Amino acid sequence: MSWKISPAVADILRRGGEGEGLEREQAILLLILPLRSREVAALMQTADALSRAQFGEKAENHFHIGVNVAPCPLNCQFCSLTEKAGIFKEAAEFSDEQILEWARYGETFGADALNIMTTGNFSFERLLEIGRLLSKSVFVPLVANTRDISHAEGEALLEAGFVGAYHAVRLGEGRVTPLDSKRRVQTIRVLKDVGLKWMNCIEPVGPEHSAEEIADLMLLAREHGATFSGVMRRVNFPGSPMEPYGMISELEMARMVAVSRLVMGTVPKAHCTHEPNAISLAAGANLFFPEVGSSPRDGEADTGKGRGSSGERCKAMQREMGWNPDLPSNCFTRRPSPAGAVSPLG
Ligand code: SF4
Repeated sequence: MSWKISPAVADILRRGGEGEGLEREQAILLLILPLRSREVAALMQTADALSRAQFGEKAENHFHIGVNVAPCPLNCQFCSLTEKAGIFKEAAEFSDEQILEWARYGETFGADALNIMTTGNFSFERLLEIGRLLSKSVFVPLVANTRDISHAEGEALLEAGFVGAYHAVRLGEGRVTPLDSKRRVQTIRVLKDVGLKWMNCIEPVGPEHSAEEIADLMLLAREHGATFSGVMRRVNFPGSPMEPYGMISELEMARMVAVSRLVMGTVPKAHCTHEPNAISLAAGANLFFPEVGSSPRDGEADTGKGRGSSGERCKAMQREMGWNPDLPSNCFTRRPSPAGAVSPLG
């Protein structure tokens, strides 16, 4: 067995490790490297070193709060919150009190952002109300995770207290979803135009996705300046129409996390993976999403009682892998309260 790695891969890693970003063909070559090869070990180590050099020891936790469940008529095939999945037969919202309790829990465990997720058919006006409620109640920066928006709606999100939005062109967009990837990109442009930070992930990755389509989305994230853009695998809820395709392993996801990290170069402020897993924290990822409320990966209305990980669990995993979740966020500065009070969290 040779102890050396391929010179072609070594060249790509040298370039990637210096933060130059990767070309499409280079990313594709790395994405199809044999999983247990020395090359993949070197790839992960290079991505890890780049993240630690750029982000310091900081681990981030962006707390996902899904505010409603619904039989969503858009019927994206990977999502449990659809009419076709038949899991949630009635639309239901979590109460203001429940959302506030979760937000305060996020503040207490030291979340770096609150990621407020709605289904695709949720009232935009109601999302704005939730933003106004949270922005006067907690110090944690607010990120919206909702449908495609116009410039006027982007401005309204800002006015309601949001500072960023999570928005992805999903793998299989237009094939397994009814949505148009061009419209998704238009929303990403809106975010930039109005001054909302853009959060992204390559998702939801399954075994059926080609290295080419994965690489294209990684390059899109760099081109449009994502604040972060890691990798989330598809989780097949029981009865999912995607079950015949299976799921990728955490190890396969970590290989993609590493490639995505090198593609992004010095553009991002963090690098995400989902669901929380230790190996990606040694492959360039430093950002987790603890979760409560609705989730497209869960049959439980409150994923905090199902698949979702708590803030404490995420932070413990990060510490085990040599990251420090208690440092200030690289993605956001914590807001002062509307009354000018000093944040108890500094
Ligand atoms: S992913 Fe969003 S838009 Fe698609 S079905 Fe689920 S809730 Fe609706």
